[in-house]
Amino acid sequence: MVDRGMVIVGAGEAGVRAAFALREQAYQGSVTLIGEEPHLPYERPPLSKIGPDASSGSVRAIAADDRFAEAGITFRRGLRVTALQPSEHHLALEGGKFLPYERLLLATGAAPRQLPGVPSSKRIHVLRTVEHAEAIRCHMQPGQHVAILGGGFIGLELAAMGRKLGTEITLIEVQPRVLMRGVPEVLALKLQARHVAEGVVLICGVPVEGIRSDENAVTIALGDGRTIEADALVVGIGAQPNTALASDARLTIENGIAVDQHLRTSDPDIFAAGDCCSFPVHAYAGRRVRLESWRNAQDQGAVAAANMLGHDEVFKNVPWFWSDQYDLTLQVAGLADGAVQEIVRPLTAEAEILFHLGADGQLLAASGLGPGGSVARDIRLAEMLIGKGAKPDPATLADPATKLKSLL
Ligand code: FAD
Ligand code: NAP
Repeated sequence: MVDRGMVIVGAGEAGVRAAFALREQAYQGSVTLIGEEPHLPYERPPLSKIGPDASSGSVRAIAADDRFAEAGITFRRGLRVTALQPSEHHLALEGGKFLPYERLLLATGAAPRQLPGVPSSKRIHVLRTVEHAEAIRCHMQPGQHVAILGGGFIGLELAAMGRKLGTEITLIEVQPRVLMRGVPEVLALKLQARHVAEGVVLICGVPVEGIRSDENAVTIALGDGRTIEADALVVGIGAQPNTALASDARLTIENGIAVDQHLRTSDPDIFAAGDCCSFPVHAYAGRRVRLESWRNAQDQGAVAAANMLGHDEVFKNVPWFWSDQYDLTLQVAGLADGAVQEIVRPLTAEAEILFHLGADGQLLAASGLGPGGSVARDIRLAEMLIGKGAKPDPATLADPATKLKSLL
């Protein structure tokens, strides 16, 4: 009998975790992991961050080459999957060959959103891959002026990197403030203030009218009549899920490849995980979301692998992500939409947590900002409370002298 085996498309965080999880669960058949990038799978978070010693830009592999061999995982890098034919149970590969599968995982990630009308130029960048990061890093030096469009995570983390490296930074955000979605205003404003204090020129609430580039500079025309001239521009205006394989194969798409609580797509033998998929969030009565975060990609890879092997594991993890800017770390657990009450828990002069409660008193989300790991422990406990559907006493949440552990 032919071993069609397990095949994973996309060798990022989700795909790699799934490949190893298949082996950890004692799967004996073939495991093939296919990635179009020419490298060993690598971590994306370090691409936009800088350590206290100004270290950054080094590529951190998710797993060394020999670990794939030891685990009996066939890792095919630099190879693009061009089509998916569910009725044949096979994939078409760049170069014209086909690869059969028994069960398939789509872990194709996301790609930077493009801004229409932006000219192609060696001075205009997006950030998703190690090649993008290297190109941006060339401009991050004293005497250079880098403009950043988008006050999201890429924009803010790169602004912090740039300032640390002595680069002049102008950050343009069309909305009235940075991090409009997913981060409470009070914390976003604190981060904003820190960027300004570090010397970032922050322009919020002004649209971009046009972008031009020549050999020597990039010129950005703003809606209020101002013109910004910079040595380079980074456009960080969000990411879009890579759904082409799935949509061409007529799988259901709903802001990403739609999966059920088992991470199964509309085809029973095809699963999806990570940035490319939308899924019902267990802790929020099955509300469908798509998350773009490192831990979500890993966790979904592991659960998808279990379910590819016939288990019926429900994906229950509470959303969680972090962002590092200067010495500050932001951590957010849960989803705050629908919250009617915000409780502040001051931890130190520089660190605080905000809790978001629903109309029935249920804890929906917790967001913390502070130096280093100052908010990590409380956010971890909040995440557990959210997972349990807890309705904690607001006075206890607000009182830093009361341990959150006592609420569990
Ligand atoms: P990806 O990592 O995008 O991997 C998908 C892979 O599939 C890619 O290599 C892609 O090339 C490949 N692929 C796609 N289509 C095909 C095809 N047809 N054939 C073959 N291969 C294909 N999250 C946090 O929580 N905290 C952070 O601080 C943080 N920092 C980040 C910094 C940066 C610069 C970026 C870009 C992201 C950051 N993230 C962070 C988000 C996190 O890295 C992502 O959520 C995570 O990488 C998603 O993993 P994934 O496996 O779903 O997708
Ligand atoms: P992002 O965090 O979603 O932020 C995008 C920003 O651009 C938002 O402020 C958004 O405003 C704005 N924007 C959207 N469309 C625009 C348009 N047409 N013109 C001008 N501005 C626009 O995305 P990102 O910073 O580009 O990051 C890309 C990916 O990398 C995401 O997957 C992100 O999660 C990931 N990443 C994560 C981290 C982290 O978690 N620490 C760090 C770096 C990167 P609106 O909100 O109003 O749309």
